[in-house]
This record gives sequence, C-alpha cells and structure tokens, in this order.
Amino acid sequence: KNFQVAIDGPASAGKSTIAKILASHLKYVYVDTGAMYRTVTLAAKKSGVAYSDESGIVNLLSQIDIRFEPGIPTQRVYLNNQEVTEDIRSTEVTNNVSQVASYAAVRQNLVERQRQIANSSDIIMDGRDIGTTVLPHAQVKIFLIASVEERANRRYKENVAKGMTVDLVSLKKDIEARDYKDSHREISPLTQAKDAVLVDTTGLSIDDVVSKITKIIQN
Ligand code: C5P
Repeated sequence: KNFQVAIDGPASAGKSTIAKILASHLKYVYVDTGAMYRTVTLAAKKSGVAYSDESGIVNLLSQIDIRFEPGIPTQRVYLNNQEVTEDIRSTEVTNNVSQVASYAAVRQNLVERQRQIANSSDIIMDGRDIGTTVLPHAQVKIFLIASVEERANRRYKENVAKGMTVDLVSLKKDIEARDYKDSHREISPLTQAKDAVLVDTTGLSIDDVVSKITKIIQN
C-alpha cells in the first residue's frame, strides 16, 4: 500500500516549505493542493468569470487541466499546458482563492483529482482538508500551526526577498481573513483531524520542524 503523509494547517504556517523538504528526503511525490485551488481561481480570472459566479466557475472545471512538474526550488504548475507557477501566487489570486474553494462542486472535482494522484505513489500532500477529507486513512497526519505574527513575518521576508513592496499590517490582515474564510466554510472547513499531530512552529527553524516531523513519520 502507498504511504501517505497529510499536512494541514492555516495559511503561511510553512506547510509547503516543510512538505517539499520531507518529500525530497523520503523520495515521495509532493502534492500542493492549494496550488490546485489557486489554478482554478486563475482560470476564472483568465476567462473573465467573476469569483462570485459559482456556476460559471463550476462550468469551467471540465476545461481545466492542472499538471505539476518537478522543479527546483519549486515545482512548476501548468494550466492547460501554460505555465502558471508564478501567476497563481499573485495577491489577487491569494485574496480570492478562499471564495472559489468554498464551492462544493469545485472541492468535489479537486478532491477527486487529488485522490487519483495519491493512488499511484507514496505522497506528501499539503492543504486544509487532507487529513479530514481527502486522505482520511493517511498513515501520518500533521497539523502545522504558528502564531499569526510569525506567519505574517515569514511572508513579509519572502516578499521582500522577491523584491516586492509589501506592508506587514495588510499581510497580517489578509492571512487572518483567509484563515477565517477557510475555517468557516460549510464544506470541509479547516480543522485538525482527530488523529493528527499538532506541531506549533512558532520560534522554530525549518530544520527543527523537519526533524520533528521526520521523527513522527519514522515512529
Ligand atoms: O495552501 P495555500 O495557501 O496555497 O492555499 C490557498 C487556498 O486554497 C486556501 O486559502 C484555501 O482557501 C484553499 N485550499 C483549500 N483546501 C485545500 C488547499 C487549499 O480550500 N486542501
């Protein structure tokens, strides 16, 4: 049977950073499910469909092919064979993805795709509902959290390193707004699975977190 590691948690808790490192150590496939919701959000924008137009977005799903390709330092994401790795990280996509992710038919469609990927290899999957909904039988489930101040600071440093001008206060507000929407939607809201291990990364380095979770996996 395949080995499955589920990593869930709020925005900017370090899920993808940690999952990528673990996947390369363990030689597992890494699946960033947030990137899939972001890609659907970007597809709506490109097609001129309003984020509030649920049926319009649902109608787009059959025309949306999402493909991941391994790459360093990040894997590349393709929407219908067009690379969107950077475009899906824009502020506009980030601030509208939670609305798109709240639509039942969008979630059903992407969860189906996620389970298919998980069938074919050992994987580490990160998101919001992996341990609770997508892979309820995952052998290891981690719920990764950090204080909102720390999460905003990490995002701030990343943005500055990319040469972007950002304002820490609005970053923090955006993170809080996204967490609120993600934990209050009707369908599979962000919650810790009963059998998930809580890991608080506040004040911890990336290495600390990686070794902590490696120990949990090897147990
Ligand atoms: O992980 P990331 O922050 O890129 O995810 C972007 C958004 O996609 C989340 O804020 C959430 O609204 C949605 N999402 C989700 N379920 C997942 C992964 C992401 O609803 N499994």
